[in-house]
Amino acid sequence: MQDFAPDQVVVNSAHFIGGVYVDGGSNLIDVLRPSDGHVYAGLPVADAALVDRAVENAWHAFKTSSWATQPPRERARILRRWADLIEADVAVLAPMEALGSTRPIRDAAQWDVPFTAEGIRFFAEFADKHGGEVAATRNDHLGMTITEPYGVVAAIAPWNFPLVMASWKIGPALAAGNAVVLKPSEMTPYSILRVAELAIKAGIPAGIFNVIQGDGRITGDSLCRHPKVSKVTFTGSTQTGVAIMRACAESGTKPVTLELGGKSPQIVFADAPDLDKVARMVAAAISGNAGQVCVAGSRLIVQRGAAEQVVAGIARAFNALQAGPTWQQATTLAPIISKGQADRIDGIVNRTIAAGAQLVTGGTLAATGGNGSYYLPTILAGVDSSMEAVNSEIFGPVLTVQVFDDDAEALALAAHPDYGLAAGVHTSDIGRALRFARTLEAGTVWINRYGRSSDFVIPTGGYKRSGMGKDLGRQAFEANLRIKSVLIDFAE
Ligand code: NAD
Repeated sequence: MQDFAPDQVVVNSAHFIGGVYVDGGSNLIDVLRPSDGHVYAGLPVADAALVDRAVENAWHAFKTSSWATQPPRERARILRRWADLIEADVAVLAPMEALGSTRPIRDAAQWDVPFTAEGIRFFAEFADKHGGEVAATRNDHLGMTITEPYGVVAAIAPWNFPLVMASWKIGPALAAGNAVVLKPSEMTPYSILRVAELAIKAGIPAGIFNVIQGDGRITGDSLCRHPKVSKVTFTGSTQTGVAIMRACAESGTKPVTLELGGKSPQIVFADAPDLDKVARMVAAAISGNAGQVCVAGSRLIVQRGAAEQVVAGIARAFNALQAGPTWQQATTLAPIISKGQADRIDGIVNRTIAAGAQLVTGGTLAATGGNGSYYLPTILAGVDSSMEAVNSEIFGPVLTVQVFDDDAEALALAAHPDYGLAAGVHTSDIGRALRFARTLEAGTVWINRYGRSSDFVIPTGGYKRSGMGKDLGRQAFEANLRIKSVLIDFAE
């Protein structure tokens, strides 16, 4: 895909309820292009009344349309058609995604849009390939479990991969036969509206997939607390996850899936195969999307004998990145989502240097000549686990470096008191790799790689305060169904 002109991308600043665009909400939030800070739209904030309208629409569609009751293969067929339409729409969707988010156009076109479509296809395949069980009961009883959709599932998404994160929520919920009300991030609200339009074209009944716009405090909270929402699935920060869990507990003990923050270690042993390649992998795992990735490998824990070579290789990879707006093909270093977030990153880096860390490279905003905020990928060495950059989730391209001598020290450094989202281990010693995989307290452990693959079947989710439940995999599908037990007595 070519460079595009940002002013030519047109968005519809509205909600999508019952299959049509709906205005509403006098309170408008400025929506900025992260690449240049330009305000390009005003987002209506749905109040409790509009949230109620969206949920009632979803509830009505769930109860009256054939979405949940039709043969599941038919539901799967409609979802596959939707995925095909999304993929075919890349020329419109990719610029829309790139315009309002931190995703450079090349990534949006080659990864975000096709990956969104493929995720929906993946979950469509479960629609008719699951079932309950017949239980072991006495001979004149038949006990069975049947699975049923919840009804209305509320989905709340973050801004860092707007389409993909949303698809991981709506794909399994819809495939399981639920209706969905999605609230995208107020910072990246538009591309998913186009996807909602395509849902109608694909044959998903009006009201089964709705999008409401707004902030967390008013719109998100009202959605979680709505009495007709039966399940909430959320991706975002740990702090918001806690607020959502509370809202769900206070409004009906609703089940929640929470995909939250992380501070993931990348552990490199001196015997790792090809240290230069490892250095490139480590660099990519913290500079991709400018570190604005939940599983960003933000803590390098490297064996003493390999430290110099690996750190030098990472610095080289960082220096080869080119900051630029998301509408340019050549951009390989994404903008930071907002000026406030860039200042926050800079503050953490400066305070950690003041506390004694050594700056190896980066440590400042990149000069791009525009109003966007770009942060130079940064390496902080000589740190210890008490320092802010080592223990806080920065959500920016900042890598801390800690050196270890033996396995026990590596494991001690890798453990984080709060987070347990992911971890990477690079070593040629398979026994050690497996011992680490068993011991590390993380929802995902990657060995001799870092980052999710395109295997949708591998679930993702955190331990500890990184969340509960899974996105992707069979587990994400099953979490959108509830189980009913039926016991039949046929004794004469
Ligand atoms: P955020 O928590 O600020 O916001 C996420 C969403 O929650 C937004 O749509 C927001 O409007 C909404 N929200 C905020 N307060 C709410 C409330 N009280 N009730 C209901 N909804 C509310 O997160 P963010 O800044 O958009 O995203 C970055 C965070 O997301 C990082 O911590 C990152 O690690 C995490 N994340 C995790 C995963 C994962 O798979 N574990 C994936 C992507 C991002």
